[in-house]
Amino acid sequence: MFCLIEQITLLKGFTMEKYCHSCTAPLDMPDFKGPAENYCKYCTDESGNLKSREVIHKGIADWFKSWQPGLDDQKALKRATDFMNAMPAWAQD
Ligand SMILES: [Zn+2]
Repeated sequence: MFCLIEQITLLKGFTMEKYCHSCTAPLDMPDFKGPAENYCKYCTDESGNLKSREVIHKGIADWFKSWQPGLDDQKALKRATDFMNAMPAWAQD
């Protein structure tokens, strides 16, 4: 049986390492894994550099619209802003 601290450390390692810090894409799936350690291939260029906030913002808004085809641009962009504020790569506080 693990002690609690070990479990928390494992859990943190899992959540921080396995998901894109920009958009939460699961990095243990080859579809999303790119050259960067902490970001998926959609959030980085070929060299693994994180794309600009504007590009990611638009991409996330499009992603929301793909789930919910009736969603208008303004709402999708607002949701993308809220989503990004919760992500380690984009939080502004
Ligand atoms: Zn990503």
